[in-house]
Amino acid sequence: MKDAVIIGAGPAGLSAALYILRAGFSATVIGTDNSSLKMAEKIENYFGLEEPISGETLLERGRNQVITLGGAFIEEEVVGISWNGNFSTDTNNQTIDSKVIILATGAPRNKVKIPHLSELEGKGVSYCAVCDAFFYRGKDVAVLGNGEYALHEAQELLPMASHVTILTNGLEPQVDFPEDMNVIKTPIRQLNGNTSLEEVVFDDDSTLTVSGLFVALGTANGSDLAKKLGLLLENDKIIVDDSMATALPGVFAAGDCIGGILQVSTAVGEGAKAGISAIKFLREQKKKTLS
Ligand SMILES: Cc1cc2nc3c(=O)[nH]c(=O)nc-3n(C[C@H](O)[C@H](O)[C@H](O)COP(=O)(O)OP(=O)(O)OC[C@H]3O[C@@H](n4cnc5c(N)ncnc54)[C@H](O)[C@@H]3O)c2cc1C
Repeated sequence: MKDAVIIGAGPAGLSAALYILRAGFSATVIGTDNSSLKMAEKIENYFGLEEPISGETLLERGRNQVITLGGAFIEEEVVGISWNGNFSTDTNNQTIDSKVIILATGAPRNKVKIPHLSELEGKGVSYCAVCDAFFYRGKDVAVLGNGEYALHEAQELLPMASHVTILTNGLEPQVDFPEDMNVIKTPIRQLNGNTSLEEVVFDDDSTLTVSGLFVALGTANGSDLAKKLGLLLENDKIIVDDSMATALPGVFAAGDCIGGILQVSTAVGEGAKAGISAIKFLREQKKKTLS
């Protein structure tokens, strides 16, 4: 059992890890290689930089700092998360248990514009298989996506739904989907349904009748993971209080995934706050188990 699992290896997640490690707790940072900071050619508005440096270099320095303090890194994609007294984080390869979770997943980027998708949200269009699979018992459903996250969501649905179809919307599959899942690669033109989703219409005029469409594009973002924990969102951003705590004790969030000013300095500050709040939570938990 880890003390803290931090999802996100950008400035917010790394900053939280620094505090947690220096307080004597263990921290495992899980992140893929797509921090926004890596895309920044030059950073010159962050404290202490006499000369501008590339985002990639700044990120590398932060990462090395965490490694020096004994932090563990897992370069895998997080596809699921659950709570059963402690937290279980599923990557595409393993499950990691922890007492605390910090969501530092950056700004969501996996938006898709399909006519009628947003109107049918909550009426057949879902963003969380583990939350909603039960409502689709014995029904035909589809998963929109082409990678590990789509595969994970489809596997959650398989035991419940009558049939699961993968819709890649014109993209090539990035993973091997099981043979019992039909994969349709044709781009989607629109969704149809009056009071709830009825069919998907493709660019070649073909249609697929489904009761549910689960959106799992690219990598699961912070709001996807937050929904799996039943956390509240506003405009797709995770809601936190002043101490970066979410409504679920032991879960904190920081950086671009909570919105606000999307800058390195804010991500670092919020990551520090989330780390300090996590330390407080871990210390209180330790006291309870000792008494
Ligand atoms: C082109 C560009 C230029 C910029 N220039 C500046 C600038 O000059 N100055 C400045 O202050 N800010 C700049 N920014 C903004 C700054 O980069 C971000 O505000 C900052 O990186 C946010 O940090 P974060 O830790 O919240 O998120 P990010 O840095 O985006 O990190 C998110 C982390 O979460 C991981 N992640 C997400 N989902 C998953 C998942 N399912 N499984 C595993 N890992 C996951 C990602 O791999 C990544 O490691 C720029 C941004 C861009 C895009």
